[in-house]
Amino acid sequence: MRVFSAASRDFSDPAVMKADSIHLPFQTPIAARVRGIASAAVRLVAHAFPSQCALCGNLSQELLCDGCDAQYWNEPRMRCATCALPLAASTMRRPREDVRAHCATCLEAPPAFNDTLALADYRAPLDTLAVELKFRARLAVGELFARHLHALFEDSGLPVPDVIVPMPLSRARLVSRGYNQAWAIARPLARMMRVRSDASIVARVRHTSAQSRLDQETRRRNVADAFAVSGDVRGLHVGVIDDVMTSGATLDALARTLKCSGARRVSNFVALRTPQD
Ligand SMILES: [Zn+2]
Ligand SMILES: [Zn+2]
Repeated sequence: MRVFSAASRDFSDPAVMKADSIHLPFQTPIAARVRGIASAAVRLVAHAFPSQCALCGNLSQELLCDGCDAQYWNEPRMRCATCALPLAASTMRRPREDVRAHCATCLEAPPAFNDTLALADYRAPLDTLAVELKFRARLAVGELFARHLHALFEDSGLPVPDVIVPMPLSRARLVSRGYNQAWAIARPLARMMRVRSDASIVARVRHTSAQSRLDQETRRRNVADAFAVSGDVRGLHVGVIDDVMTSGATLDALARTLKCSGARRVSNFVALRTPQD
């Protein structure tokens, strides 16, 4: 479904995070000087009072200390190339024409998306990072996820997408939260990949009830027709960014909508993946 209405374009505007709208009012030399002094002061304070690692609480200039950063992103997990579920050797399937490994479910009933890259399982302690990003507006977590997703992408052999889009929020949720946590990952990731990012291509046109309490089939019905495409995606390879992938039903519905609008390939980039339902 393609929607070309003024309303749908307006809808996408708040997808830009609140931080985007924080500008000094005047672009004058004095304003620039003030801004320079202010950012230097912020850097000075940051060095004088080092903050804590978001995971272990040790003193750290960065969001994660070196120890945590090295420990949690290098889990030796084999994942399904399509849905990123962890694969045990016994559940791994490898079709003859494909060098990548897949889970049995994706081979029997392939989802609408083609690929998923996930950094790690959604479990302690990394789940706290997703909570910080989603509910406490700790946008630096988005940058951290983006950096690691970029490294994972570089090693993946996947082709570079033509455009990067964040999983859209419904207007109501966007207004109540004030920012889209997926956009906080998508924008820096697109910059690192040197790919165009666009939060206005897809919109969430239907508010859906919380997915976590629903079974797989109900989830699928719950998100059908939840999205509308308002940009031209014909022939494009679209990269979809989300913070957490649970059942995959929402990403499947979005990919289905993109493919119905002519997208050639859809690749998901998610920070954390729930291992099982
Ligand atoms: Zn740490
Ligand atoms: Zn799979």
